[in-house]
Amino acid sequence: MPISTVKLLIDGEFVESRTNEWRDVVNPATQEVLARVPFATADEMSAAVAAAKRAFPAWRDTPIAQRARVFLKLQQLIRDNIDELARTLTTEQGKTLADAQGDVFRGLEVVEHACSVGTLQLGEFAENVAGGVDTYTLRQPLGVCAGITPFNFPAMIPLWMFPMACVLGNTFVLKPSEQDPMTPMLLADLAQRAGLPKGVLNVVHGGPDAVNAICDHPDIKAISFVGSVGVGTHVYRRGSEAGKRVQAMLGAKNHATFMPDSNKDQAINALVGAAFGAAGQRCMAISVGVLVGEAKAWIPEIVSKAKQLSVNGGLEPHTDVGPLINKRAKERVESLIAAGVAEGATLELDGRQPQVARYPNGNFVGPTIFSGVKPEMTIYREEIFGPVLCLITVDTLDEAIAITNANPYGNGTAIFTQSGAAARKFQNQIDAGQVGINVPIPVPVPFFSFTGSRGSKLGDLGPYGKEVVRFYTQTKTVTARWFDDETVAGKVNTTITL
Ligand code: NAD
Repeated sequence: MPISTVKLLIDGEFVESRTNEWRDVVNPATQEVLARVPFATADEMSAAVAAAKRAFPAWRDTPIAQRARVFLKLQQLIRDNIDELARTLTTEQGKTLADAQGDVFRGLEVVEHACSVGTLQLGEFAENVAGGVDTYTLRQPLGVCAGITPFNFPAMIPLWMFPMACVLGNTFVLKPSEQDPMTPMLLADLAQRAGLPKGVLNVVHGGPDAVNAICDHPDIKAISFVGSVGVGTHVYRRGSEAGKRVQAMLGAKNHATFMPDSNKDQAINALVGAAFGAAGQRCMAISVGVLVGEAKAWIPEIVSKAKQLSVNGGLEPHTDVGPLINKRAKERVESLIAAGVAEGATLELDGRQPQVARYPNGNFVGPTIFSGVKPEMTIYREEIFGPVLCLITVDTLDEAIAITNANPYGNGTAIFTQSGAAARKFQNQIDAGQVGINVPIPVPVPFFSFTGSRGSKLGDLGPYGKEVVRFYTQTKTVTARWFDDETVAGKVNTTITL
């Protein structure tokens, strides 16, 4: 059977690219080629932006409730199709089916939130700021916005972006990861079926050229980026130089602190789930466990719990750890494990070359645990983005906080304790975007916003929630005076008073 091609969505039509450059979309559990994805040509990139620009005036002027109704419909369509979405996602990305459902569901929550745009997009009003003068703000859409997304959440992260941007009256160009573009295309199809007018959402595919075209295009007003530090820093700089707003959510090395008074079983379960779930390919994965005081003695139990996880194809029932996204990622993770051994860390559990009977060609690495990890080691310095947990032992909470804050990244963190005082001190002093208290992966619900600190984020405002309303809108402040017939003409006033 011929291999299908992933289409571009331009001006409401799913079209075949005319490019000469194609990549395979590969099932990471089997190496089966699922489809071929085009790297859009410069003309196709321009056509997508032009379609978004043409669609903007009418969409901006579409009544707010009418825009919201499209997303009410979209949330229903996502619910109706969640099984197909999750299956496609597992097949092209590798994560387990249950985790793929979670990926779609966390994005669906943002679509639900987009439906309340009526109250989110309100401006402010102050009456009588001077005699007969009122001041108020309008939150107006920017125009064409763009999104560049990573491979690890092919449903949730596109859904962080285009629903909120579009419901606010913007039009959008999405460039999903070329490694798993099929799930975003299913979502784009549902958005068309939900009634998004043509040109409001466009989807292009590609790599560096497509990303640079987005950064440079004068008609794109704002870019949302989620991905690695290197690429995100490039997008932030290049997009900012071209005069755009850019928000860039970047890499991570998330530390979790375990106090000896915490509920040990719950804490160990949480650590093992957050370190190895999604094969560690989450920006909120716990990759460093900081064991405080007597919690140092937990290492054998952590190892024993990790050994019980099932490494297998994501579609198989009871799988805990699926494959890594591609062969290169597998080799990289294996070489980082080798570096950990060479640099003197203690390899408590070696997940290299696991036996996965039904998937001999999959990109599998099993749960791997190091103890005795030191800050100068490569496994500590680099974001491994695989199922590798580094354990560090310290004597006090102060040391745990200091070591966490000394790391260059500040995405998420967590503390496990039964002491309110310890938790409060931690939440106050820790420097990270998301803080969990007995919660291992504290990704905020969409009434709040995702955020990040230090090396994990560039730009001020984060994705979804209230912050993204500000990101995707321009505040206009109006100061108005209405003269009634009784007003006596005054003198010319050359001062700045009203
Ligand atoms: P990536 O940076 O390789 O890719 C992200 C996007 O940039 C993709 O669309 C890709 O096509 C494009 N891209 C890749 N190389 C490029 C280049 N040289 N020039 C221009 N564009 C390029 O990231 P990834 O591997 O897909 O995703 C994993 C990374 O994303 C991890 O670092 C992870 O921590 C991070 N991440 C962060 C968050 C967050 O919210 N902070 C969420 C998810 C993932």
